[in-house]
Amino acid sequence: MIAIQDVSKVYGQTTVLAGISLTVPAATTLSLIGPSGCGKSTLLRIVMGLLTADQGQVSIDNEVVTPQNRLALRRRMGYVIQSGGLFPHLTAHDNLTLVTRFLGWRADQENTRIDALCDLTGIDPSLLTRRPGKLSGGQAQRISLMRALMLDPPVLLMDEPLGAIDPLVRYELQNDLRSIFRKLGKTVLLVTHDLGEAAFLGDRIALMQEGRVIQDGPARELMRSPATAFVEQFVTAQRSPLQDL
Ligand code: ADP
Repeated sequence: MIAIQDVSKVYGQTTVLAGISLTVPAATTLSLIGPSGCGKSTLLRIVMGLLTADQGQVSIDNEVVTPQNRLALRRRMGYVIQSGGLFPHLTAHDNLTLVTRFLGWRADQENTRIDALCDLTGIDPSLLTRRPGKLSGGQAQRISLMRALMLDPPVLLMDEPLGAIDPLVRYELQNDLRSIFRKLGKTVLLVTHDLGEAAFLGDRIALMQEGRVIQDGPARELMRSPATAFVEQFVTAQRSPLQDL
């Protein structure tokens, strides 16, 4: 479970997060959505322990993230970002084994894990000798997901993981991600700017505006009973262009 309690973050004069409280129960997915600049990535980085909140706290499975334990806790959280974040000078295989090598895994342990993750994510193992520059966007994101899952963390944090992927591949990856989340029972906090994606992948959606959570609930609730005029505008602005044909 991820518990975010009253988290605030200020940069200079700007309040980026103003008392955010959210819970992601174990084995569920919460989609975090909102306009650009509303604080989604900042919140995800605080959960990951890459940034420190000015106020409030985050706990992972009832353990509060502190400067002392955040490195250890980070191993219980897989992190996937929009650009993939793979090291360009390393092969896909070496990107996958960077942390396990540091932790002293044997090569056969690594290979067993990599085989299982290739099956899970639909990656052809022959691609693993390539550097990220020789992979398609979709393949690179599948490798990033494999890397995030290498240590089998209970928690996955995903920041616009499909944001840079073309629509057809994105559609495929959305299907695969949903089945992977369900199959593995991961606790997932996913940032997206696409309401359709948020509803498809999330058990719940939290809509943010200017550093606050404006509404948090199942997608249907946001559509049918928007809490404020902003929620209604946000939902309407994201309608499918096809519905006007
Ligand atoms: P989102 O992910 O919703 O687009 P971000 O969390 O990236 O939003 O950013 C929220 C706000 O915080 C933005 O206005 C951004 O300019 C500001 N911000 C983010 N990081 C910093 C920083 N290191 N210093 C100053 N302002 C920052």
